Amino acid sequence: MGFDTSGLLPLSDALQGMLEQLACCCDSEQLPLPDALGRVLACDIASPLAVPPFDNSAMDGYAVRLSDLTAGTPLIMAGKAFAGQPYQGEWPTGHCVRIMTGAPVPAGTDAVVMQEETQADGDRITFLVQPEPGQNIRRTGSDIGKGACVLPAGTRLTPREMPLLASLGVATVAVRRPLKVAIFSTGDELKPVGTPLAHGDIYDSNRYGVRAMLARMGCNCLDLGIIPDDPAQLRAAFIRADEEADVLITTGGVSVGEADFTKQLLDELGEIGFWKLAIKPGKPFAFGRLPRAWFFGLPGNPVSAMVTFDQLVQPALAKLAGQRFERPLQLQAVTTEPLKKSPGRLDFQRGILSQGPNGLEVRSTGSQDSAVFSSLSRANCYIVLERERGRVAAGETVTVEPFGGLLL
Ligand code: AMP
Ligand code: MG
Repeated sequence: MGFDTSGLLPLSDALQGMLEQLACCCDSEQLPLPDALGRVLACDIASPLAVPPFDNSAMDGYAVRLSDLTAGTPLIMAGKAFAGQPYQGEWPTGHCVRIMTGAPVPAGTDAVVMQEETQADGDRITFLVQPEPGQNIRRTGSDIGKGACVLPAGTRLTPREMPLLASLGVATVAVRRPLKVAIFSTGDELKPVGTPLAHGDIYDSNRYGVRAMLARMGCNCLDLGIIPDDPAQLRAAFIRADEEADVLITTGGVSVGEADFTKQLLDELGEIGFWKLAIKPGKPFAFGRLPRAWFFGLPGNPVSAMVTFDQLVQPALAKLAGQRFERPLQLQAVTTEPLKKSPGRLDFQRGILSQGPNGLEVRSTGSQDSAVFSSLSRANCYIVLERERGRVAAGETVTVEPFGGLLL
């Protein structure tokens, strides 16, 4: 409290404002199925087959016609049906067919009786239970009808989709090319890992976080390194990124004090909005257009950079990449300790969610300062505290968002 928060932009407005301007910018290409892992489908996939493609047995047992069954009277086994080797012989009345899981059921089969419900005496099979019509038969098309949409355009292919597509005989798929994202960090104090630090220097950590999140999203990253707070070098980096990438993401240099300087440069090169978001951490944020590329300017503070990427940039990049995006689940949990909070901003505190004796419990990772990186690495969820909420007492219910795709 103690400062005016009325001029801050709500997260949802910022997100909506961005998404309205963005559209998919990635062409499609045809790839062999195994090479398409991690890519985004450019078109709906309609099933070229019915799945299963023929009526087949769900059990090891016997295929029967109900009209042949009289209580207590055995049937004679006429032959056997295996997966891949259908039964092709005659099927006289008073007979049954031994059948294995996945084998096509012979024409005329009313039910499959599982082996455990029968008694065999040579080829004389006694049925201990009267079968229901259709039992243990997987019907043609019962999983997927021929022509049905199995995966919509925008689906990112994970290991879960690969066997599904293979089961349909899909050999190649139309997918979007990856989004190309240039990144750099700004700041005279930043040094790359692997070099010594002079007094006043710190290691550039944001670039490693942003790169990792881009890799998780399947983007191609053009890493332009660290650019000092120098107008000529910054200008050259902005121009190169704009020429070579679809998107530029920078961290640092958008907070009060530095913003004027970056702002002047960006005003000259493109149309960029400098926003003060009503979220914590992560207040300063810049978004807009360079001549060719979209621009996202994240705050320099490491936790703010990660959180604004996760909450704001991720959905925007998904849209540019043609990918359907769903926000992670939000759950309710009881906080086991008090949480510091001032009204005015939507807080994404870092928490540790666990299963307590009476349901979900959450506790804080400690200092929520946006420069304290360990608060993020020890957490497994956000504790999302509503904008107008104040201090939270132990025992109150709060909203939690378990870390999803990018932060796991
Ligand atoms: P800025 O937004 O440039 O004013 O930076 C805010 C704070 O974040 C300062 O303490 C910076 O030193 C720090 N910071 C900026 N960029 C990075 C980075 N790439 N890695 C680690 N810390 C950074
Ligand atoms: Mg800086």
